[in-house]
Amino acid sequence: MRYWQEYLRDINMDEILNMQINDMAKVEFECSCGRKHFLDIDKIVMGQGVISRLPEILSDYVKEKIYILYDQNTYRAAGRKVKEVLEDADFQVKCTVLDSGDQILIPDEKAVGKMFMELEAGTGMIVAVGSGTLNDMAKYMSSRTKIPYTIVCTAPSMDGYASSGAPLMNGGRKISYTATLAYAIVGDTDVMKEAPMRMILAGYGDIIGKLTCLADWRLSHELTGEYYCETIVKLVQKAIQKVVDHRKGLEQRQEEAVRYLIEALTLTGVAMGLAGNSRPASGAEHMLSHYWEMKVIARGENPELHGIKVGIATPVIAEVFDEMQDLFPESVKEMAPSADQIKTLMKEAGAPIKPQEAGLDKDLFYRGILEGNTVRDRFSILDLAVKENRIERIARKITDEYYQE
Ligand SMILES: [Zn+2]
Ligand SMILES: [Zn+2]
Repeated sequence: MRYWQEYLRDINMDEILNMQINDMAKVEFECSCGRKHFLDIDKIVMGQGVISRLPEILSDYVKEKIYILYDQNTYRAAGRKVKEVLEDADFQVKCTVLDSGDQILIPDEKAVGKMFMELEAGTGMIVAVGSGTLNDMAKYMSSRTKIPYTIVCTAPSMDGYASSGAPLMNGGRKISYTATLAYAIVGDTDVMKEAPMRMILAGYGDIIGKLTCLADWRLSHELTGEYYCETIVKLVQKAIQKVVDHRKGLEQRQEEAVRYLIEALTLTGVAMGLAGNSRPASGAEHMLSHYWEMKVIARGENPELHGIKVGIATPVIAEVFDEMQDLFPESVKEMAPSADQIKTLMKEAGAPIKPQEAGLDKDLFYRGILEGNTVRDRFSILDLAVKENRIERIARKITDEYYQE
């Protein structure tokens, strides 16, 4: 899948658990789960002021054309700086602004088409400056053109920086394209701590969602024999713990809190890469969130940020776990947080938990719990509740709690 790959570094399994994220690029290890894991990202560089290190990060491409992509918001946040830093170091750059400025950037035929039309022959590296949308567009172009891409993150808002899937809009529908991993991920905390608070809280919601997601993975392992990797789970849990420990610093935009958040979001992507699928990052809370999103898009409304919806869905799924406790083994109980615990973690960070805040009405909320398991073929607590004929009662109970007058 990779075309600029040269080598991977062999490490042993325990090392990965004690590594800093900046050292995880290009690792490979034999794991107790029986698989050999590898991570095909060349460079992960996170920290304060790291944008100024771009010339060094991209030094292999100094003789080639660099295609920089941003929208008007991300230009102000970091794009201008990226351009200046590279120009000052004698890189040949070509820049494209992908939005018209009067609305949010939608990754549809028009925007993707513009991105391709402005691509000059002889381009050696794509540099996207942005978060979810720009990253998705750039990784899609990278996979189709075989030109590597670098993402300069502008907000710690979601966990897709290190993942290979690219959801784009085509014909009015959201389609998930298989794309490629980044050559480099550059996360400058000076930029990200200034991101809109809603985006920071969305990133936090996406991380809190991993708590139910990992419990779902374990549940499926116990009940269906699905592949499970203890090392990957520990890796993600460690990263979540740091975010949770610093949750109260997010609203104050504390550098440390923001750094742990972007590290955990990137690491979840890394974990997906190691597992070979999104199991370590996406469980029933994501299905619920996707269900709501599809219905909202079908109504022609603008969906709320991904992580905000995941954050709202997580205590709901935790409550489904609470209701099903008698039916699963101790190992799952240890991993499944209670709904109250999750709600407290959300509230203490200042993150929303009311479905009404994401524009969800009572019926849509209820249907999501009832039919969320149909979103994808991946065993979760929702499937167990359906199988045991409890889902209707649970969905009704939770909905009534959330929508009581
Ligand atoms: Zn493993
Ligand atoms: Zn997510």
